[in-house]
This record gives sequence, structure tokens and C-alpha cells, in this order.
Amino acid sequence: MPGSRPALSYDVFVAPEAPFAAPAPRVGDPPAWDPKTSTLIFGARDAVLVDALLTVREATALADWIALHDRRLTTIYITHGHGDHYFGLSVVLDRFPDARAVATEGTVEQMRKSTPQQANGYRGWFPGQIADTIAQAEPLDADHLEVEGLPLQVIETGHTDTVDTTALHVPDLGLVVSGDVAYNHCHMFVGGTTADSRAEWMAALDKLAALHPAAVVTGHKDPTRGNPPSVLGESRGYIEYYGQLRDAGLPDQDLFDAMVARYPDWVSRQQFLILGIT
Ligand SMILES: [Zn+2]
Repeated sequence: MPGSRPALSYDVFVAPEAPFAAPAPRVGDPPAWDPKTSTLIFGARDAVLVDALLTVREATALADWIALHDRRLTTIYITHGHGDHYFGLSVVLDRFPDARAVATEGTVEQMRKSTPQQANGYRGWFPGQIADTIAQAEPLDADHLEVEGLPLQVIETGHTDTVDTTALHVPDLGLVVSGDVAYNHCHMFVGGTTADSRAEWMAALDKLAALHPAAVVTGHKDPTRGNPPSVLGESRGYIEYYGQLRDAGLPDQDLFDAMVARYPDWVSRQQFLILGIT
């Protein structure tokens, strides 16, 4: 009902940019992982967490923050199969052993196939900071989750910053938790995209925009910003502009410089995001 008070609330935890061990990049800032979010959606008694961060320290701080909300954590939903969104899961589950970790079948499959290889990479970049055990999610057997009877709808968004990605839509709050389908004034992981995957990514952003959310929490964001729905159009524009430069055959350095010039106030001017992981 318009004007009625939502039964649910949400709160966003932002883990700050995290420097990592890697050779100095040819372009951009020294290596640092872009700021990451986890979102807690809660009612009077119960809560669902969306995404579980990367390092042990991040996940420990996240678990403390969840505990401050004094709700029963029933479920942890993982939006997609990238380790920066689920390698902290085992730490959170240790603190909240009654919670169930879930994801779509596609994401569970990505986690199953890629966890060992991703763990190798992340353990090199963040030595001593990645949990020994990387917990996996179980496949969700429905197209939605619930908090106290209210739906959190899973939106399949296909190939965006990886394959089989998803977002969550919470009609009661007019909220979309976008995972990495949208970014909030943070350079996007477009380095690995192709013309086809960019088209699919833009279509996914259109799908989220068609829900007309009042707020969008992105997986990566400038921590000083709120959660406006305008990030959907801005992310779409970023991918479109990047595609135009790629199609024009710009050399790496020029491509990087052009993106930073077009988005001068966006955080994480990282070579690995804009030009890809080498
Ligand atoms: Zn991410």
C-alpha cells in the first residue's frame, strides 16, 4: 500500500577498500580491492544476510555487526560465485550456526567449480587473510526467500560480471540488492567482458530498472554514497561507453585513461577491473 510503513528494514555493512599483494600495475592506483557490501534485511525477529565478504577480518567484523541487530539470522544468500562475496561465509556460519547458506543452482555450480582456483588467487593476494575452509552454499529450492512471511524475490541476471549472477528484490522495501550487476560510483569489472556479455549485462540492468526500486544496494560502492536507484542507469552508461572504446580498438593505456577521465570521481581506479586480471 502506498504510504504504508514497511514491515521490514535493511542495513548495509561496507568493508573498506583493501590493499592486496600484487606487482605494481602498469596503470592506475596501487593494487586494492574495491569496497564491498553485505546487506542485512530484517523484521521484528528474523534476518537474512546478502553476501559474506572476503577476508577473515572482514567477516569477523560483519558477524559482530549482524549480532548488534539482535535478530535471528536464518539465511545467508550469496548473489554470485565470486570469492569476494562468499569466502567469508565460513566465519559468519561459525558465529551463526543455525543459519543456512543458499544460492541459486547456477551460483552453487560456479562456487563448486571455481572455489579451488579462486582460493589460490585470493590466498596469494591476501596472504594469511583467507579462511582455511571455504564454505559452500546449498541450492535454493524456490524462486524466493522469506523474512517473517514477506518475500525476497531472486532475480536471475545471467552473465554480468561473471556467469549465473543474481540480484534480490524486496517489494516491501522497494529495495534491490544487486550484487555485482550494478556498481555505485566504483569502477566496474569490465576487463573480462565481450560485446555479447556487455549486451547481456546491460539487459540485466534494464531488468532491474523495470522493477522501479526506491533503493539499490550494490556489491561494490563508494562508501560515502547512499543507495540511490540511479546507479542502475549509471552502470549501464559505464558499460556502454566502455564498449564504444573497446570497439574503437583503443590501446589499454588510452582506454584506462578515457574511463578515468569520464568518471573522475569514481573510486577504485584499478587496472584489474578496467583491463582485466592478468
Ligand atoms: Zn565483487
